[in-house]
Order: sequence, then structure tokens, then C-alpha cells
Amino acid sequence: MQIKAIRGTKDILPQDSRLWRSIEEKAKNLSEVYGYRQIRTPILEEARLFVRSIGKSSDIVRKEMYAFLDRKKRLLCLRPEATASVVRAYLEHGFDKTISLAKFYYLGPMFRAERPQAGRLRQFYHIGVEAIGSASPYLDAEVISLAVRMLEGIGLQGFALHLNSIGCQKDRQKYKTNLKAALKNKLKSLCADCRARYKVNPLRVFDCKNPHCKEIINSLPKVAASLCRECQDHFSKVKLALESLNIDYAFSPHLVRGLDYYTKTCFEITHPQLGAQNAVGAGGRYDDLVSDLGGPQKPAVGFSLGVERVIAALGPQKTEAIPPKLYMAAIGEEAKRTAFKVLDSLRAKGIAATAGYQDSSLKAQMRQADKLGARYVTILGSEELTKKTIILRDMQNKTQEEIPINKLFEELK
Ligand SMILES: [Zn+2]
Ligand SMILES: [Zn+2]
Repeated sequence: MQIKAIRGTKDILPQDSRLWRSIEEKAKNLSEVYGYRQIRTPILEEARLFVRSIGKSSDIVRKEMYAFLDRKKRLLCLRPEATASVVRAYLEHGFDKTISLAKFYYLGPMFRAERPQAGRLRQFYHIGVEAIGSASPYLDAEVISLAVRMLEGIGLQGFALHLNSIGCQKDRQKYKTNLKAALKNKLKSLCADCRARYKVNPLRVFDCKNPHCKEIINSLPKVAASLCRECQDHFSKVKLALESLNIDYAFSPHLVRGLDYYTKTCFEITHPQLGAQNAVGAGGRYDDLVSDLGGPQKPAVGFSLGVERVIAALGPQKTEAIPPKLYMAAIGEEAKRTAFKVLDSLRAKGIAATAGYQDSSLKAQMRQADKLGARYVTILGSEELTKKTIILRDMQNKTQEEIPINKLFEELK
């Protein structure tokens, strides 16, 4: 039986990888412009890293982690997101001791065992940044503006930035109590999932997509009323800083992110093109995560963009694989041998060139060159070999000329 890709995973084919590369390049370049440096952490981590950071009650830890025992009976996991990994690496390599504000960006695959559906894959890609070491509201604004500028740079239009503050731990405790009180006599009208959420972490009811629950949820108290003075002040400064950059946002009083580690600012970027799973990216502040993972108190903020979501939101794109500049056709054993050497010397000089390697007729080789979209084709047969020449055919202008082999590079250049 033929082996197929695992459900919820996807091959990115040559005709699409060009778009992927261009998105990645733009994201990398802009991150560097903003002073972020690339970090590449392992895909495999200890599962407890995510249990401790994302939280036991989160959907990710409860049912979506790819966790398994290895041969030494350690509980490992394919990373479901990168923030915890970056913080682990930050501590492990002593950035907390050597640099007051450490700024990282990353890109790579993440894994969640979700039910595959539109917009949800089991292996999906994130591009993200983490800035660790400052509580300044300007840093929140920098991170948010970088996310926005990145999407703009990629060419995405029509997305919306939703912004909220969920306050410090104390505010959240207070809010959870208020929320529980408000939910208590509405429990019967909520779905089974929400009733379970009420018990473990009432904030999770905001993750519910059930339209009936949504209605009830919209009438619940808002976090803003539970914010302490300092958190209120921080949030106004973030908003003012964004306004000073002319970045549009919508205040979303019920936006609480699905991970335990967020504090203060949280945000989500959505796109109307996407349907139910409409977020292209999200992020926020996580002032306690570094200390929760055993480090000193280091306030931090970050975001991640979902690459597949961004691509879906971009809509149909002109996709094509990059064609070779030159296709070398050769007839006969000796000509093939010579062509193979010429091919190598051209490639060494940076000319994108290829050959067919089949024992096929000249006609068949020309057809293949055409299919690949090669700009030029060279033809080498026994006649040319004796004259030390080669035929260079321009596939666009449908013209050809015979030139000395050793002038080929000059001609192509
Ligand atoms: Zn507070
Ligand atoms: Zn519900």
C-alpha cells in the first residue's frame, strides 16, 4: 500500500515554496531591522516545559500535545509553540546575565494534535519574535507594530488588530473570581466544554466557538474593570504609542489568550478571509514566564504569526517553481560526458543549469526543457564535439547560434 502524509500535515511543493521563501525572507529582514536576532531551538523538548509555561488547564496541554516517552522513559514532546523554548534557551545560555534586553526571532514548525479542519494543521509553521527584559509599554508597541509591518510587508491587506489588557497576576485572580460569580447561575445554559472550563479555568470560556455560549459570554464582566492602576496606566501608554505610529486597533474587552503565561497586553490579528479560525497571528506580554521557568523576574513580550493562515489570507497567488536558466541537451555518450563537465563549470560560476539524464531523443529533451521553462537550451552532438562548438538556443526568441564551447559562459552571462 502506498504511504501517504499523515493527516493534518502538508507537503509544501516547489511551486509553493517560492512564496514561503519570500514570506520568510521578508520576516527575517524586517526582524533584523528591528534589532531581533534569529534563534533556532530544537523541535523536541521536555513536555514539562510546556506544562509549566502554557498551563495544565490549557487546551494545548490537556489534549493537543504530541508527547511521548522516549527509550529512557523521559516524557518528550514536539513543541506546540516556541515561546517557552525561547525562554528556556534564554535562561540556559545566560542571556539574563549578559544582556538587559534580549530580542529573538524564530521560524519553524510547531505541532498540535488537533482535529484536522480548515485552518488547523497538526504540523504548522510559526514566525515569531520574543523580547525579554523590559516592562516598557514602548516594547509592547514595538512588538505589535513589527507584527503589523511584517504582514504589510508580506502584502496582506484587510487584517484587523484586536487589543486588550488582561492585567497582572493579581488582576487576573480578581477577574477570575468575578467571572466565576457571573458564570455561576448561567452554567446550565453553557455547553459541556464551558462547564468543564468553568471548573479548571473560567478564562477559557472565551475560547468557546459555540454561538449560544458566545451570546452569554458577551454579557460577562470585562477584564478592564479588574485592572490595577499600574496595569491601566501601562495599557494606555501602549495604546498611545500605537496611535503615534498610526497603527489601527480595535479594543477587544473580552480578548483573553488561551495560554496561562500572558499578562497585561494581549493581542490578536484576524483576517475576514479565514472563516472560523480567523487569527493570522497573536501575542502579548508574559512578565512572569521567565521566573515561572526558574529564572529571575524578567518582563517580556512577543508574538507569532501562523504562516499557513497568512498564506490562506493572502488568497490565490501566482505560483511557479523557479525555472533553470539553461537546459543542456546532448546526443550520444561522448557529448553527454562533455556536457556533464560543462554543466559543472557553469554551476560553479552560478549559472542555474540542468540536464535531463535520460537516453531520449533531442526532440524529447527539448520538450522537457520547455516544460521546465528553461530560458536557454544548449545542444551538443558529435558534429559540434569535433568542432568544439555548441548550439545555444534562445527559447524565448526562438533563435539559435553555434558558438565555441569555451565562450558559453560569456554568452550566458
Ligand atoms: Zn495589575
Ligand atoms: Zn461553550
